[in-house]
Amino acid sequence: MRTLFIHGGIDGDELTGSVNVPIYQTSTYRQTSLGVMKGYEYSRTGNPTRHALEVLITELEKGTDGFAFASGMAAITAVLSLFQSGDRVIISNNVYGGTFRVLDKIFQQFGLAYTIVDTSDLKEVETAISDQVKAIFIESPANPLMTITDIRAVSALAKQKGILTIVDNTFMTPYLQRPLELGADIVVHSATKYLGGHSDLIAGLAVTNDKTLSDRLSFIQNATGGILQPFDSWLLIRGIKTLSVRMDRHVENAGYLAEFLKQHPAVDAVYYPGLADTPGYEIHRQQSDGPGAMISFVLNEAYDTETFFSSLEVAALAESLGGVESLVCHPATMTHASIPEEIRKKVGIVDALIRYSPGIEAKEDLIRDLGRALERSKR
Ligand SMILES: *Cc1c(COP(=O)(O)O)cnc(C)c1O
Repeated sequence: MRTLFIHGGIDGDELTGSVNVPIYQTSTYRQTSLGVMKGYEYSRTGNPTRHALEVLITELEKGTDGFAFASGMAAITAVLSLFQSGDRVIISNNVYGGTFRVLDKIFQQFGLAYTIVDTSDLKEVETAISDQVKAIFIESPANPLMTITDIRAVSALAKQKGILTIVDNTFMTPYLQRPLELGADIVVHSATKYLGGHSDLIAGLAVTNDKTLSDRLSFIQNATGGILQPFDSWLLIRGIKTLSVRMDRHVENAGYLAEFLKQHPAVDAVYYPGLADTPGYEIHRQQSDGPGAMISFVLNEAYDTETFFSSLEVAALAESLGGVESLVCHPATMTHASIPEEIRKKVGIVDALIRYSPGIEAKEDLIRDLGRALERSKR
């Protein structure tokens, strides 16, 4: 895996020996005679830099074909475009807010319905499957309570019912979890997060291991046009090269922070798949190569959430996650604001919930920063 991040895909450039894939900043390609091309005709359809990234993510996710999009939401939109009016998809009850929003506000207009289910409970998933249901869309661990869904079991159930399993693998990356190997049909990523890794790019990826699906996705990518640009494709390839070292440090920092938060009087609950008392801990261990680095925690009522956020000096209050710098956010008003309040409350996205994405800074500095902000936020 570690070598593949650096040498996977199209490793460098054959023409010049350049160790990096060139940025083919072009929209079109000269035809030597009518209809005779050197593999590319127009950059919405295909571009060599984007192609190098698409081959790379395909190898990393152990699929057969990969597709790069202008954002995670563009990738998810392309995947949801596989379905038709009258179809229904099952989604996890704490799916990424944008995924819920695009289904609720866009796809529903075209007759694609959705059912919200606690996908960590296989019985609930099974009960929700009707003739209309064509796919199950899951995240594991799911944002922001790090709920674990058994990807193998859901995929097996879906296969048995003849429906697709789609996994948003943004939190884990292929370094820690490869859903296609667990039986899923499509993996999607917001590559904006760990894969890019430097908070300097918006990108999305989709990978499948099924020829019919990849033909459809390729058609949708070209027809709807939400492609990733050559420079951003290159930037993402660059980010992926260092994924393993970054991720190792993210996970190490997260482990320290989770233990620190767990024993702190300001904290009522810590959600982190690396803690042995996490529901689904064993399932997560069996389907992944590590706990990842996303942590959420609930502040005790004696502490003020707003003061906490404004007291942090190292971690930045910001949307997003997975960058080299620590980022902290307030799910109820930020990432999950588009989820209706009653669903938010039901699944535990309370106002005192804080999500922390540890960067790769020195863990001592992160703990000092966190400890100071917790002290200052005491009412
Ligand atoms: C950020 C995110 C998305 C959306 O990706 P964008 O690149 O912001 O469009 C989808 N899923 C998850 C889990 C995310 O964190």
